[in-house]
Amino acid sequence: MSKILEGKKGLVVGIANDHSIAWGIAKTLSDEGASMYLTYQNDSIKKRVEPLSEKINCLGIMPCDVSETSSLENVCNGIKGNIDFFVHAVAYSDKNELSGKYLNTTRENFLKTLHISAYSLTEMVRMLSPKMNDGASIMALTYYGSTRYMQSYNVMGVAKAALETSIKYLAVDMGERGIRVNAISAGPMRTLAGAVINKSRKIYNYTIENSPIKKPLSLEDIGKSSVYLMSDLSKGVTGEILYVDNGYNNVGMSVQEL
Ligand code: NAD
Repeated sequence: MSKILEGKKGLVVGIANDHSIAWGIAKTLSDEGASMYLTYQNDSIKKRVEPLSEKINCLGIMPCDVSETSSLENVCNGIKGNIDFFVHAVAYSDKNELSGKYLNTTRENFLKTLHISAYSLTEMVRMLSPKMNDGASIMALTYYGSTRYMQSYNVMGVAKAALETSIKYLAVDMGERGIRVNAISAGPMRTLAGAVINKSRKIYNYTIENSPIKKPLSLEDIGKSSVYLMSDLSKGVTGEILYVDNGYNNVGMSVQEL
């Protein structure tokens, strides 16, 4: 039986190690027949991405710093032929500002956080656009802290709000060619980026205890929903934020409080 993503080619940006959400997505997409280019932010991350690339249908691995336009140009030039999907799973903020009050966010870190975690999606979509087949699919990763206060998430919540609104505007701009732009809003995961948030372990456990489905969210859970978004099964879906969080965003009151 043919696999759902057989013949689809893409680009996945944001693998740091085998705990990365981007790795869960790349692995699941590959299991469903897709092949893809991967990127790494710097040489220390390259050492972890290289062995992972050998476990999937990888078309090549390239350096990519999303804050450098020249680096993005090199990624575009490194892609041979056209692609059918692009996954953006990148975020950064100064660890010192992912604790305490949002009020204390510095201008420097505000701009850097918004540049890397939000603007980079828009710049990459624009640059990759000539390489994308009509009907292609684009997705980014976001978190519920974009729409509600979440302790310690601070400026990253503001960046995710910008990212989510970018999804809607990009959906219109790319929709002319049938290219879809969506995001998965994932529940808390134990990744490098997740661990930087103050009290992340408590937030992680609190979310499990207070979600409709009371179990840890797995990389595969997110990967499987990305198969839906990257495939023709979601052909009529764009500009959406799909929550893959064991239902946490639908709970208004903790069961423990009653
Ligand atoms: P991760 O640390 O594994 O991945 C973050 C990636 O961003 C890393 O690969 C890092 O190299 C990359 N990155 C940072 N700055 C970069 C730059 N300038 N250029 C290129 N790459 C850069 O952590 P993750 O949790 O898998 O994060 C992936 C995405 O998922 C992020 O957008 C994050 O906000 C989002 N997300 C994470 C959680 C969570 O709880 N971990 C929940 C919801 C959404």
